Amino acid sequence: MPESKVKKIAGIIAIILAALIILPIVMSILSGSAYAAISEAELKKLKEQSSALSKESKKIAEELKKVRSTKASAIKEKSIIDNQISILEQEIETSNLIIQNLSEQIAAKELEIAEAEKQEAYEYEMFKKRLRAMEENRSASYIGVLLKCETFSDLLCRSEMIGEIILFDRELMDSLKRVRENIELAKAELEASRADQNSTRESLIAQAENLEIKYAEQNSIIKTLEQDEDAFETEYEEALKEMERVNKEVAKMAAELAKRSKYVGGKYLWPTPGYYTITSKYGNRYHPILKKNSFHSGIDIGAPSGTDILASNSGEVIVAGWNNAYGNYVVINHGGGQTTLYAHMSKILVKKGQNVKRGDKIGRVGSTGWSTGPHLHFEISIDGKTKNPKDYFPD
Ligand SMILES: [Zn+2]
Repeated sequence: MPESKVKKIAGIIAIILAALIILPIVMSILSGSAYAAISEAELKKLKEQSSALSKESKKIAEELKKVRSTKASAIKEKSIIDNQISILEQEIETSNLIIQNLSEQIAAKELEIAEAEKQEAYEYEMFKKRLRAMEENRSASYIGVLLKCETFSDLLCRSEMIGEIILFDRELMDSLKRVRENIELAKAELEASRADQNSTRESLIAQAENLEIKYAEQNSIIKTLEQDEDAFETEYEEALKEMERVNKEVAKMAAELAKRSKYVGGKYLWPTPGYYTITSKYGNRYHPILKKNSFHSGIDIGAPSGTDILASNSGEVIVAGWNNAYGNYVVINHGGGQTTLYAHMSKILVKKGQNVKRGDKIGRVGSTGWSTGPHLHFEISIDGKTKNPKDYFPD
């Protein structure tokens, strides 16, 4: 959008430039009286073109404002996403810790199972040893004990003994069986809990994978936002360059017009009596809005909003209007190629074409246009070139 506006502006500049180049050639051919007549007509035409340019400037100002607010919201969005990513990273970190903890528990339980199986095997080994011992010593076997009986009562007595031995072995076998069953039960429980833990782990891994996808998505969103941001920045700077070119051409035009009369004479008057602090000097400086070094074509005088701005010298108001950079601004032609410019006004109190006297109120201090706070941007130009205003005010 701003690009087409820039093209329109460039078209208007081309028309004005053509007028400025062709006009002196035509003038040189014509006689002195005709020169004056054409000059007047051309002046009117240039003023009309200037007001058309001002209209276009207003439109581009609105476009720029939109671009800037979009950029600001994009930056805000980016910081929100940045925060989300750091939260996600923390969650992934926590997931990793849980997974690690689960793996450790599973490993510990596997060790327990191995230990239980070892115990079972040991008990079984002991039982087999006892059986083997009984077999080797036949007197210890049940039948061997019974055959050694000499009398019936002896047999009964020994039977009772055998019963006791049988009971003992049965209890031993039962306890062995119980031990094995307990081990099997514990093992089954361990396996069940391990299955549980595995499914928990799997869901955690799945969650972590989802987080990774989200993370990648957010990264790409940020990249897009950064690209948008760069594009907005470039568009803004291009529009700004065009505006600066417009300003220069307008200043040239004003200087050309100013040359066609005699200098009114006298010394320049400080435009804001009572306020003498220069907040930004003439010359190279760091631009607070562009955030880079740029040439400062005037001085900034710090003064509260609403402070009266006085005409620095007598002359004709040749500009009283709006410009994106200057905001509400006034240019006075003092003749002999000398002009003064007053920018960022909250209010303009004069009209284009009006004659003012040295010290007349022409406007009030404000912060319109590219300004970061109330101040008067004041310029003195001679033959279209800005001069350091400080040189015109002896301390
Ligand atoms: Zn300034």
